Amino acid sequence: MSVSQTSESPDQTVVNALGQFLGAPPPGTPPEVVEALTLMAGDPADPLPPRLFFEAVEQAPSAISITNVEATILYVNRAFEVLTGYQRAEVIGKNESILSSNATPDSIYRQLWRTIKRKQTWTGTLVNRAKESGDYIAELTIAPVLDRDGELKYFLGVHRNVTKVHELEVALRQQKTRIEAVLDAAPVVVVLVDASGRIVLDNQEYKKLYGDLRGCEPVEVLRAGMQEQVGLDPLAECLAGRGFKDLEVSIETPGPGGPRWFACTGTPADEFDSSARGYFGRNAKGERRMLLLANEITARRREIERAHLEHLRARLAEQQLNHGMREALAAAIYQIQAPMNVIHAAAAMARSGTAHLDSLAGMLEQISRSGGEAMAALTAALPQEPREAGVMVNVNELLRRVLELETDRLLASGIVVDWRPAPVLPHLPGQKNHLRSLFKHLIDNAIHALNESGRSHRDLLLATRAVPGGVEVDVQDNGPGIPLASRYRVFEPFYIGWRNRRGKAGMGLALSQEIVSDHGGCIEVDPEFQDGCRIRLFLNAAKGDE
Ligand code: FAD
Repeated sequence: MSVSQTSESPDQTVVNALGQFLGAPPPGTPPEVVEALTLMAGDPADPLPPRLFFEAVEQAPSAISITNVEATILYVNRAFEVLTGYQRAEVIGKNESILSSNATPDSIYRQLWRTIKRKQTWTGTLVNRAKESGDYIAELTIAPVLDRDGELKYFLGVHRNVTKVHELEVALRQQKTRIEAVLDAAPVVVVLVDASGRIVLDNQEYKKLYGDLRGCEPVEVLRAGMQEQVGLDPLAECLAGRGFKDLEVSIETPGPGGPRWFACTGTPADEFDSSARGYFGRNAKGERRMLLLANEITARRREIERAHLEHLRARLAEQQLNHGMREALAAAIYQIQAPMNVIHAAAAMARSGTAHLDSLAGMLEQISRSGGEAMAALTAALPQEPREAGVMVNVNELLRRVLELETDRLLASGIVVDWRPAPVLPHLPGQKNHLRSLFKHLIDNAIHALNESGRSHRDLLLATRAVPGGVEVDVQDNGPGIPLASRYRVFEPFYIGWRNRRGKAGMGLALSQEIVSDHGGCIEVDPEFQDGCRIRLFLNAAKGDE
């Protein structure tokens, strides 16, 4: 046997030598050796010689090992050396457990061994320890290799490092957990719905509403409500790429609570295509979804409705009062007519000189009697001051409400309002309606004063302050002001200082002072303020404790 000295590769030289040997095997060569070498040399006509299989395994990018049935390593490829950090000389003859990091539960190994001993392929994940670079997550497949008789002879192990994938999965899971925690903590109903109306994601508030609706899907109920009440299908809008914001819709929930109101906001949410076809982006068919946020505003709505009702009630009561007063005044005028007639007659008699003392005395008695009756009727017609229960009130809130009520008048008079509430005010024990009419009266006075001033620049400043023991309020305007000499008289009943006295009874500030005193406070015209009028009042926070 000679080996040709050409420029062949060493592999080719071996294959050629084997070919020559097998062409004329020396006499006495055992047939098993000839068979084994025949297998090694392969068939020259076969384009895939066995050596190729060896090289393919050797150069494969995955870590490959071959063991005996006890997992003693017989062979490892180059990628195994790179991944584990062990040279093949260090691991051949050792058990695969050399790679174990002791972080894989025993149950996994038991399951692994049960499977491969049954001559089945096992695939799973283990925590391995590389020689120097520490722990890594290995995705391992072990395939049994059987001999000709079907007996288990070897195991082929293929594994790769999937630590990065695991890290990404964990990061994704963490991200998901965080998003879910934020969504669940949000005091708003949140739901993500796909194009067919299927719920993809929801939060705790959504689930709570689902319970309140006794199993009816809230998104369907809200959707139907919007279609009916606003004439808009939220899903269709979002799928068409149009969002919507704060659409108020009411829904009925079982039970005695009455309708519930939600402010709904819809946003189109585009999802990426995760299918294999869309991998390179060319055939990607992303799906559009609807992200619906529903913020419950039932309390606010009820408050508005209650305020509206209260306002209506107050107007009705006012109308009733006016009506009653007109009736009583008409009756009083009628009753006064009688003594007036007698007075006229007595005066005529006196003028004509026909008046006798007796008849005049009788007339005076008649006047006194019918005058007394008229007085009694008028006194009876005086409306009763409604009694109001004391509650804890927030002066800022009351003033703000009164300002809101006065907005139209302030705008019509061209008055610029400077509203300076104290950021924090103690709550006072007080009578809301009385305080409201107090503030309304002071603001009305300021508007009247500014209108009388004829000034082009009209300012109204309202300020509140927390002071020891209570709350101080300033109502200040840049109108004509109140002369120093009148600063006490303005609080007297029936005092009228306006140029235009029409419709004025001069009782406003007198009643205001009464309300302030009822609240354990005091009110004054600030003598220091010269550029108009500043009414300063103090309300006692401790009055309720007395
Ligand atoms: P061990 O005592 O060796 O095994 C734990 C449990 O496994 C035992 O209680 C027993 O139930 C079962 N078991 C172990 N050996 C046998 C056996 N011969 N027959 C039946 N049951 C048995 N392990 C890794 O940690 N990382 C690897 O990358 C890895 N690759 C492998 C590749 C191949 C091809 C094979 C066959 C095994 C591989 N193993 C691998 C498994 C390894 O051989 C050990 O079983 C494992 O590492 C646990 O070792 P241990 O010393 O902690 O416990």
